[in-house]
Amino acid sequence: MSTMSVAVQQAVRPFEMFRVAVKTTTRVSPHLVRVTFTGLELSEFADNGYDQRIKLILPGTDGTLEDMPTGDTWFTEWRQLDSAKRPVIRTYTVRAVRQADAEVDIDMVDHGDSGPASAFAGSALPGDEAILYGPHAAYDGPHGGLEFRKDLEEQTDQLIVGDESAGPAVASILEGLSERARGLVCLEVGSADDVLDLRGPDGVRITWCVRGDERGQHQRAVVREWLDSHPAVGRDEGGETTVLADGQDSAYWEVTTDRGDDVPPLSAWIAGESSAVKSMRRMLVGEYDVPKSAVAFMGYWREGHSEC
Ligand SMILES: Cc1cc2nc3c(=O)[nH]c(=O)nc-3n(C[C@H](O)[C@H](O)[C@H](O)COP(=O)(O)OP(=O)(O)OC[C@H]3O[C@@H](n4cnc5c(N)ncnc54)[C@H](O)[C@@H]3O)c2cc1C
Repeated sequence: MSTMSVAVQQAVRPFEMFRVAVKTTTRVSPHLVRVTFTGLELSEFADNGYDQRIKLILPGTDGTLEDMPTGDTWFTEWRQLDSAKRPVIRTYTVRAVRQADAEVDIDMVDHGDSGPASAFAGSALPGDEAILYGPHAAYDGPHGGLEFRKDLEEQTDQLIVGDESAGPAVASILEGLSERARGLVCLEVGSADDVLDLRGPDGVRITWCVRGDERGQHQRAVVREWLDSHPAVGRDEGGETTVLADGQDSAYWEVTTDRGDDVPPLSAWIAGESSAVKSMRRMLVGEYDVPKSAVAFMGYWREGHSEC
């Protein structure tokens, strides 16, 4: 490489903006749509698996993405845009990356037309444009945007709980789990037709709950029964967490800040509707002393509130 080309080469950021278009949409279940995006740049989209989160950026009310800022201060500039020109930004999980085909799949809950991302999932057509703000393969370092504790997957029991919105992350986590992993995965969906055929290691029990009157109620019963039959699991008060969001307009977000060398007796990954996550947290932390050194409580969305 010449000195000149080194001099003009741009530093790659951990996350970059990838211009994409819809290639296909597939109904995975009545309320889950797989959107396959294509775009030449996706050959450089990093394939990190697990619960890698990204931003999906969709045209705003003016129908274009032309005004979307892309530089280092894009978020500040985006907030200052006139509302009619401001693209929609939502958080999603990468479900699959096929670098050789320059494709990325995102599995999106279709919860009706109340949200622009859900409306997009329900009506997207080949050629519809979007931007994925996601991890760039050329970045030489951790990209961030993953909470699942891969370092603990063989060392301690896993407790993984989620609703439909967390289903794609749980499916990817299960695909990545070591064969030696053990624990409980408990997923909740709104109807029996939305139960998926997810498989994991032999030592990981996968349980589906169909929602009752209250979000998460059946899951709490399943988790309680599992914890009661594993009395050694979870009884530890070590570690610290940081509550990063618990506001009027934001979903609950609490993750560990203490990734010390000690192996906790349980690694808990809990995601879904914010109040259900908080209820699960009350049970785990309040009643079962789940170790704070290995918890992630993540409100993926909040009933009655748009993401932003
Ligand atoms: C780290 C992370 C990863 C995520 N990964 C995924 C993913 O892979 N797939 C996925 O589908 N979602 C995922 N989500 C959740 C997704 O970001 C939210 O559901 C988002 O609010 C959807 O945007 P929207 O435009 O459809 O609705 P919004 O405009 O944000 O909200 C409009 C209304 O819809 C309600 N609403 C929002 N989401 C849901 C829902 N899931 N079910 C019922 N009502 C809802 C809101 O309470 C509000 O009343 C993830 C969230 C986070 C934080």
